Amino acid sequence: MKFSQSLIPTQRQAPSDAEVVSHKLLVRAGFIRKVTSGVYEFLPLGLRSLKKVENIVREEMNAAAAQELFLPHLVPIELWQQSGRADKYGKELLRIDDRHERGYCFGPTHEETICDLVSHTVSSYKQLPMNLYQIQTKFRDERRPRYGLMRGREFLMKDAYSFHSDTDDLDREYQVMHETYLNIFKRCGLACRAVDADPGTIGGSSSHEFMVMAETGEDQIATCTDCCYAANIEKATFNHAVSKVTPSEKDVVEELTPNMKNIEEVSEFLKIEPKQMIKTLIYKADESWVIVCLSGDREVSDIKLSNLVDGDDIRLATDEEIDGLTGVPVGFLGPLGMKDCIKGKMPNAKYKIIYDHSLLAVSSGATGSNKKDYHTINIDIKRDLGLDEERDVVDVSSVLADDPCPECEGNLRLMRGIEVGHIFKLGTKYSEPMKATFLDKNGKSQNMEMGTYGIGIGRTMAASVEQSHDDRGIVWPRALAPYEIHLANLDFTDEILAFTKKLYDDLNELGISVLWDDRDERAGVKFNDADLIGCPLQIIVGKRGFEKGKIEFKIRQNGEKGDLSLDGTIQAIQEKLNTL
Ligand code: ATP
Ligand code: MG
Repeated sequence: MKFSQSLIPTQRQAPSDAEVVSHKLLVRAGFIRKVTSGVYEFLPLGLRSLKKVENIVREEMNAAAAQELFLPHLVPIELWQQSGRADKYGKELLRIDDRHERGYCFGPTHEETICDLVSHTVSSYKQLPMNLYQIQTKFRDERRPRYGLMRGREFLMKDAYSFHSDTDDLDREYQVMHETYLNIFKRCGLACRAVDADPGTIGGSSSHEFMVMAETGEDQIATCTDCCYAANIEKATFNHAVSKVTPSEKDVVEELTPNMKNIEEVSEFLKIEPKQMIKTLIYKADESWVIVCLSGDREVSDIKLSNLVDGDDIRLATDEEIDGLTGVPVGFLGPLGMKDCIKGKMPNAKYKIIYDHSLLAVSSGATGSNKKDYHTINIDIKRDLGLDEERDVVDVSSVLADDPCPECEGNLRLMRGIEVGHIFKLGTKYSEPMKATFLDKNGKSQNMEMGTYGIGIGRTMAASVEQSHDDRGIVWPRALAPYEIHLANLDFTDEILAFTKKLYDDLNELGISVLWDDRDERAGVKFNDADLIGCPLQIIVGKRGFEKGKIEFKIRQNGEKGDLSLDGTIQAIQEKLNTL
């Protein structure tokens, strides 16, 4: 493609709302343009890279014997009512009414639609297993669309759904998809790893996320220093069995801690470490209350809490609500005597107290005394709280760096990643309400076992930029580059033009993609744009070199430069490309 005839609106300034480098560079290099919040246009260069990701995904899915189809974006809302998700999915679901006031949604994911299809077309165990996928635009009215392509509202996704006659076969396919995903991201040139994940609102029994490691990632991941344990922070846990505490020999005592409400102030005053404090938080879960106790250096994981507690609306209680329930000012709450406080203030309250497993490591602990300005010290978790074993505690906190690995003797490290893919075992969560059944060998009707497997195509493209760029621009891996070669002539004599044109034609004929910067621009402008756009190999035809029988090359990734002789240029270029 000739630059002069292309729509490549490169610009010096990044958009003011761009926070991450992929957003800045993809806009500056003329790959994408924002139309409105979370909605982007793919310009010609952007579409080429997007298609590269799409084709790798398609080839690998086909190689894994999945079948491509294409489902409508519009989904009759009745299907989502049938699965029970119409109400649960909340505001991310874009609802649309037609002229007859029939309700639809713009599909944010397609479990319902595919189940409807399969329930009407598959009826026997002989037709299973089956893995169906599509590459399609989704719409999710995200609360905070940001980071450009990374968290858009309209975005391209590969979504696949597999159907099986039993769980063993689902397990087998899940493993196939796991391998397929690793191949896809490897072929895209990305450093990616699979991590254990919480199945979240999609539901189901097991799930893995595929994370591209990057400082700017929205997700936090815990990995082990010694073994291959890796989990999203939402799911990661640690081995509490290694913490041996010595029983407290002293009796509990109340200490005056005037106006000291937070862990830092109290622990400093009492000369103990924050991890010896027993932090006590009160949550409201619909109409009931949950009191969570955990060690003072930790935070409650909202995801783990919502998995443990029933309720659609789970949130921290307000200071007034806490006063109404316990009569204790915030900052002085503690598990000892809490029941009596509640009995005195709100005898009919429905509540439960849960203890996080981090407490098993607390020796001689301190906590609020349930009265203003007092904290209780010397707490023995076994003697005073009755916490002894596994069954007395739950895992409701987030892991911390250096926590003991749950699977070996190593320790956990925390890092950030971008979730580019997600696979789930769904079981019969959707097939049951959607009536995706089949007749087994004995002629008995059964629900199909299901898996679902997603990849964000645009997010993968953006993740590549996050992982590979420098201060001059994007550094595309060859697999995702819009063009393999960025060719630029710096002079316009007949001879140079004729040579460059022939080189461009010959390369195209060999199937090597070339962006030819044929613009009548200064060399500096052309070099800047070449580095910004980030094609892997630059070929520069300048007057001085040309007269000496040479042209120049530059490898974008490492900046290596050199000359190529005018004879045998094509072969030399092919050799250089093969090293990339
Ligand atoms: P997230 O937790 O980041 O919102 P998710 O768990 O909602 O992701 P899935 O429903 O599993 O995502 O969707 C499959 C894939 O689609 C994700 O792994 C991600 O790559 C991509 N994806 C999801 N939401 C977006 C979005 N708002 N913009 C771009 N890509 C997205
Ligand atoms: Mg999401």
